[in-house]
Amino acid sequence: MERKLASVVVIDDLQPIPGADLIEVATVKGWKLVVKKQEFRIGDHAVYCEIDSFLPEKEDFEFLRKSSFRTMAGIPGFRLKTMRLRGQISQGLLMPVTVLNGYAYTLGEDVSARLGIVKYEPPMPASLAGVAKGNFPSFIPKTDEERIQNLSAEYEAYKNETFYVTEKLDGSSATFYFRDGEFGVCSRNLDLLETTDNTFWKIAHRLHLPDRLAALDKNMGLQGELIGEGIQGNPYGIKGQTVRFFNAFDIDAYTYLPLPAFREIIRLMGLEHVPILDTAFTLPDTVDELLLAAEGNSALSPAGKYVEREGVVIRSADKRISFKVISNKFLLNEK
Ligand code: ATP
Ligand code: MN
Ligand code: MN
Repeated sequence: MERKLASVVVIDDLQPIPGADLIEVATVKGWKLVVKKQEFRIGDHAVYCEIDSFLPEKEDFEFLRKSSFRTMAGIPGFRLKTMRLRGQISQGLLMPVTVLNGYAYTLGEDVSARLGIVKYEPPMPASLAGVAKGNFPSFIPKTDEERIQNLSAEYEAYKNETFYVTEKLDGSSATFYFRDGEFGVCSRNLDLLETTDNTFWKIAHRLHLPDRLAALDKNMGLQGELIGEGIQGNPYGIKGQTVRFFNAFDIDAYTYLPLPAFREIIRLMGLEHVPILDTAFTLPDTVDELLLAAEGNSALSPAGKYVEREGVVIRSADKRISFKVISNKFLLNEK
């Protein structure tokens, strides 16, 4: 599931910002962003670029230079981040469809490539990047989670469901698998060669994952978040590194283990799961309320210290529904 960084949307709402004469707040799906007054009307089509978009250095985007200039792997461009303007959260960028130069778009169409927009990825230390053995295996799904702001059409229906809530940890995605006698280690997008300085492989051995997975005598994948020193600034102040697990995947049945079975297998293997915050959660009235509920102190924050958590991951017991709700407080602090 690739993120649609830039797509053609309908402007769902426009509202004034108290005390601001020149700007107003637009709603696009579950997103809110600040726009110039009078530039758009409710119902207009527009190009919406999500946060984390990296826009090329082009005349059309020059107005972003002051707020957003950045290089990525040596390439200059503009990176969209969460901002607060006159007290209003603003996430992403809206542009008139004229930026598409007359292209005959369809509503919802992904226009990222057409505009030269890619995802901003922060630099990764070599110990985490690793050396590819191959692509991410096709027999396990990647660990991606959709953002609630892109699921506003489903929100009403989701109110009938009961969910479990885990803390979203800010580290690096790790997948370990045992399949037909072969043990493997993957980062978010790659199957990794075993090299001596690779952190994912080191952790796999320290947690005895090759033996422990083999002992299950089943083709199984375990997925978790690698956290600690040298990873995302180690917000939790952990010594060394560890993995907190969030998925167990039955490879032959091609299904995730439901929560109770997942907890049991993690316990039996002597491993740790991500913090489980609630097991009978129902959604509040609005996405905005849910966004507030995602804010809070991390369950892993050191005693006496407040560490804004990255957010939460909300799932139905069978993982049929699964999405992330990122804390806006966390995003506002992002470098
Ligand atoms: P994006 O392009 O949306 O920024 P990303 O690849 O950077 O996506 P994240 O925003 O980090 O991914 O969100 C998905 C990731 O969250 C998963 O890949 C997983 O590694 C991580 N994660 C951390 N904690 C959890 C958790 N409790 N449950 C599920 N996933 C979790
Ligand atoms: Mn991310
Ligand atoms: Mn992440």
